[in-house]
Amino acid sequence: MRLLFLLALILGLATVALAGADYYKVLGLTRSASTKEIKKQYKVLSRKYHPDKNPGNKVAEEKFVEVAAAYEVLSDKDKKSIYDRYGEEGLKQQQGQGGGGFHDPFDIFAQFFGGGSRHQHGHQERRGPEMRMELEVTLEELYSGKSIEIEVSKQVICGHCGGSGAKSAEDVVTCSGCQGHGTKTVKHMLAPGMFQQFRQTCDECGGKGKMIRHKCPICSGTKVQRGSEQLTIVIEPGMADGATIVFDREADEAPDLVPGDVIFDIRTRPHSIFERRGDALYTYVTISLEQALLGFNLEIKHLDGKAVALTREEAVTPYGFVQTLKGQGMPIKGSHSDFGDLFVEYKVVFPEKLSKDERALFGAAFGVQAAFDEQVGGKAYQQVMHDEM
Ligand SMILES: [Zn+2]
Ligand SMILES: [Zn+2]
Repeated sequence: MRLLFLLALILGLATVALAGADYYKVLGLTRSASTKEIKKQYKVLSRKYHPDKNPGNKVAEEKFVEVAAAYEVLSDKDKKSIYDRYGEEGLKQQQGQGGGGFHDPFDIFAQFFGGGSRHQHGHQERRGPEMRMELEVTLEELYSGKSIEIEVSKQVICGHCGGSGAKSAEDVVTCSGCQGHGTKTVKHMLAPGMFQQFRQTCDECGGKGKMIRHKCPICSGTKVQRGSEQLTIVIEPGMADGATIVFDREADEAPDLVPGDVIFDIRTRPHSIFERRGDALYTYVTISLEQALLGFNLEIKHLDGKAVALTREEAVTPYGFVQTLKGQGMPIKGSHSDFGDLFVEYKVVFPEKLSKDERALFGAAFGVQAAFDEQVGGKAYQQVMHDEM
């Protein structure tokens, strides 16, 4: 029994060791992944598993640490090439020779997103301003759904110095004024022989405890540069006008700041044929007097191009009549198969004038004599018109 337990333990350990080994797998990538893909995956996964989003979830926490370790190795050219050739063992050997171990996963996250590290986190998370944009979409796009790629121009953490503002890691030195404490002890004489001691923010480093010897040549020490981000906006079928799509922490990056969100407000471009009211669609169709009286078989093109049959057989369609087509409206968001209704309102075009024969036939059809016969009413009417002119 005990032996079995031991065996299970050993086997368990072996799987853990193996599972932790493939950094590409941890990021859900293959070995041919580009630097951009590695970055993108880290971004997605580190956010997904961040403890702030998964309070008390141990599995997510472990994932967060794993993802940070994988990114740390694969984003570093030297570490990546060692890892690609010799695997995790090769990295361990290099670390043994003073190659440096892993960093705090929260610091990696903070460096990537430009936010504060764990130590500041939670207490006073300073957030940058949000970016809000209107996105005009067509009714067709809201009907069928679409994914739209958008390149957003924004401020990013300098890729050269990683937001330190220094030319190299060696150029970030401990402040000699405060020995890295960020504060100085100042003695103030209150009276002869009587001193008051207090601490104040170091005036040489501004309280940072660190100074930069040589500034980064790319950002000139500002720690940021202009960049852009490709965002994929997914318009879901049936999405409402005025709906918002939020990209968490995708606005301008800055050191010691958690970026604000990028928010898109969906606006519908007016459509020439259909009008949307909630899940319903409205449209007008013009028919002739003959169609209004005798019935018709028509087709209109829907928003996705399919034909919708409008049938009124052996029925009189009065001016302003509204026909309801069940399930031909907008898709109901999130339902997959439910749709609102389509309402078609008919307008009837009357002929400008009837010929003598037509008048006679209509008269016969309705069982009356034409009210304004040409001999009597018609002439009299024309006479009046002439007199007025
Ligand atoms: Zn820089
Ligand atoms: Zn200082």
